[in-house]
Amino acid sequence: MTKDIFYGPDFDLLSKQDPEISSVLLSELKRQQTNLQLIASENFTSRAVLAALGSTLSNKYAEGYPGKRYYCGCEEVDKAENLAIERAKSLFGADHANVQPHSGASANIAVYQAFTKPGDTVLAMSLPHGGHLTHGSPVNFSGKWFNVVSYGVRQDTELIDYDELRDLAIANKPKMICSGATAYPSLVDFEKVRAICDEVGAIMWVDAAHFIGLVAGKAIPSPVPYADVVSFTTHKVLRGPRGGMILAKEAHAAAIDKAVFPGMQGGPIMSAVAGKAVALKECATPEYQKYAKDVIVNAQALCTALEGEGMRAVSGGTQTHLALIDIRGTGVNGKVADERCGNAGIVLNKNSIPFDPEKPGITSGIRVGTPATTTQGMGVEEMKIIASLISRAIRSEDPSVLAGIKSEVHALTSKFPIYNA
Ligand SMILES: *Cc1c(COP(=O)(O)O)cnc(C)c1O
Repeated sequence: MTKDIFYGPDFDLLSKQDPEISSVLLSELKRQQTNLQLIASENFTSRAVLAALGSTLSNKYAEGYPGKRYYCGCEEVDKAENLAIERAKSLFGADHANVQPHSGASANIAVYQAFTKPGDTVLAMSLPHGGHLTHGSPVNFSGKWFNVVSYGVRQDTELIDYDELRDLAIANKPKMICSGATAYPSLVDFEKVRAICDEVGAIMWVDAAHFIGLVAGKAIPSPVPYADVVSFTTHKVLRGPRGGMILAKEAHAAAIDKAVFPGMQGGPIMSAVAGKAVALKECATPEYQKYAKDVIVNAQALCTALEGEGMRAVSGGTQTHLALIDIRGTGVNGKVADERCGNAGIVLNKNSIPFDPEKPGITSGIRVGTPATTTQGMGVEEMKIIASLISRAIRSEDPSVLAGIKSEVHALTSKFPIYNA
């Protein structure tokens, strides 16, 4: 069937040697093929990326950087890392790229380390308004080791309040200002943030984890010309392997490299570095640029159709790959909606909305994203169908109705197969 994506013979070998794990691989593949993947941070990588990830580059220790390693035998992995670096610099027009961070959170640890000392003040987007854990959550290193002051969105527009951001910057004199979030459907005005950074002498850090793929596909404006440093993940819209990356101005290149290694990590995961190179090459194609634009068109269509189903789009819609939906109009909270959709084969997440009266474990909203369904080839017509499926699932208590919706989901996803032999 579809097992050839795991290298055919090698997968047979794994099945014989470890039937428990091989059956997990197969059933997870089936789950991805049959459900609707609307988690805004997930995507389906190409088989070429999976091939690089499953390669023998995983065996190689390569502490250091190309040409300056602490171990022998790095001549081949050096080529892979140099390709990833050159492709990243060229795709984003960046002075410097570090392709080694294991994840988005790791990349952010390196950014803090390159520009700040524990106790320093950093300004970042508030978590309840869409910021990420690494933007100062009290349960994360960022909130424990730094004095993170939060800015948020305006209650009337649900868009970033740049006046508040500027006032907070002047009052707190942060070393660094972070923009970028994990649940913000609109674009960030990088020019305004740059001006505020210049006014208070702060480093401009953009955490582009969510939207960098849209930048790569030239579908939205790039933060790279404005920011001192841009960190991101490679596995969201960008459609690469799970991992992180950092772009920086030349003046910060040495500080970033030192902060990643030896500052934060040991050896890089060279199979993932090769996978990042493969993904970056894919991102430079006209097909990917079309994909990035389609992701936004689909997100807007999904958002509009959900509004037609009696739900409210936070900030009036979306300009990106994700929408934040206030579902209070349905009488159901985010937690229940998430569970009901899950039982109907629709994989999305509950999400706080700005000024949410509910606790973070309950929430009044859901977050939906279109990177994965767009990779599958779905378009605006499918988004309308998906909105209706979501609405029916959210409003249904009856397990048999949810099971019925699940079979409609399976019928839809079977028309858009992924990873088929
Ligand atoms: C996803 C995300 C991260 C973290 O990425 P991981 O790879 O899960 O560590 C960091 N910042 C933002 C804004 C994100 O959306």
